[in-house]
Amino acid sequence: MKKIFPLLLALLCACSSTSEKFDILITNGSIYDAENRTFYEGDIGITGDKIDEIGDLRGASAKRTIDASGHIVSPGFIDMHSHIEAIMRMPDAENVVKQGVTTVLAGPDGRGPSPMKPFLDSLETFELGINTAWLVGHNSIRRNVMGTENRAPTDEELAEMEAAVQEAMDNGAYGISTGLKYVPGSFSEIDEVIALSKVAAKTGGIYTSHLREEGLGLLEGVGEAIQIGHDADIPIILTHHKAIGRPMWGASTKTLAMVDSARALGIDVMMDQYPYTASSTGLSVLIPTWAMAGGQEEFKKRVNDPATRKKIHDEIMFNIEYDRGGADLDVVQFANVSWKPDLNGRTLKDWAIEKGLEPNFKNGADLVIEGQLNGGASCIFHAIGEEDVKRIMQHPLAMVASDGGLARPGVGHPHPRSYGTFPRVLGHYVRDEQVIPLELALAKMTSLPAERLGLTDRGYIKEDMQADIAIFDPETVNEGGTFEDPHHYPVGIPFVIVNGTVTVDSGELTEGRAGRVLRKK
Ligand SMILES: [Zn+2]
Repeated sequence: MKKIFPLLLALLCACSSTSEKFDILITNGSIYDAENRTFYEGDIGITGDKIDEIGDLRGASAKRTIDASGHIVSPGFIDMHSHIEAIMRMPDAENVVKQGVTTVLAGPDGRGPSPMKPFLDSLETFELGINTAWLVGHNSIRRNVMGTENRAPTDEELAEMEAAVQEAMDNGAYGISTGLKYVPGSFSEIDEVIALSKVAAKTGGIYTSHLREEGLGLLEGVGEAIQIGHDADIPIILTHHKAIGRPMWGASTKTLAMVDSARALGIDVMMDQYPYTASSTGLSVLIPTWAMAGGQEEFKKRVNDPATRKKIHDEIMFNIEYDRGGADLDVVQFANVSWKPDLNGRTLKDWAIEKGLEPNFKNGADLVIEGQLNGGASCIFHAIGEEDVKRIMQHPLAMVASDGGLARPGVGHPHPRSYGTFPRVLGHYVRDEQVIPLELALAKMTSLPAERLGLTDRGYIKEDMQADIAIFDPETVNEGGTFEDPHHYPVGIPFVIVNGTVTVDSGELTEGRAGRVLRKK
């Protein structure tokens, strides 16, 4: 017995954690103060999931010390438009967290889950790499109640939709999203959206709008969103704000003026934006939504009728020439084509040439119909002007948002925003192009989104806040991918901490999964 005692004591000492003051100590970093939009030198001690102490902590003991010399220590980034629909298949969200993102607002474009409670309850059983907050989707609700019918709801249907918004808000949704460009949201009039937004507003929700039009109808689309915000008395986000299609390049001057004058009238409107000159959505965005009412079978019937097909074809040609098609078949790049994967990364022009067709608008429109009949495809549309990207970025109330999805290296040919939105802003637009100062860029990624969502324990580095932290090198941070070769993680973001758990360590994903399902209280 005598011999065992010292060994037992040693083992007990090794197991004990009380001897260390902190779980994690971050030293020598330049800490971003989101409140004053400045930086200061200091150390951060983390205990459990919280920021425990900030100051000169030299000599303090910790289980893990991270030397952040030469690095910025920022609150973890908050992505205000994230397509993490596949989160239950890819709960680690590797391509998201590696950008320094610790929280996302999901369910945008009218696609958020409904009913909310079973979805969030189920999500809570997963081990998540990031925190997720959710919007209920207008399109999801409308589809549940009315299918894809192209008409106004009856009073009973509207009441049912209002109850669905209420259910979501009662169970932790942060607001409502619309996608008025997409079926079936496109079939709704403004009154319906106002009625539903009022329900979300009552419990402090926000309204995030994928506008009815972002090309030729952009100004009307912005006007409609502002009207909804005013009439429903709800804070608005014009999401992934942009002007798409050459005829509209430069129109952000007008839309930003509309935002400013709405704010002067007391309407609480903000924006978010991804830092790229290309959008990404379904090929079907080029097809008039009336042609898709009732689903794929109805679409087939319509294109089999020569007169209706001509009408559809004419409208697609118009969209190729003047809207998201960018007046060039090379503008439309395939991202994910299940029925012809060799198209991934290639363009509508490439497909036309492969088929021995002249790459003109007429043949392009035929191929769009053919692609949709085959089941559709996700595409990248290179139709946004760089000057608009920069102008919107310079607006103090335009937050950063990816509009990206969960991605795995080698799967499809996604828009590079899924891997690179946040590092691209910090590397390309802040450091290299000097479009906005770093202090403002970080506010757009941290405090502004946190305030917008009403998060009181994230978005800042303060004692007792949740320990969500991104550590990056301002000299090297950048995205790793391109439109040609998107599947690369960013560089210059060595550490990401989520609720006190090191989730990215020296640039590599750890086993740590401390993300939470956030529910608005
Ligand atoms: Zn959208």
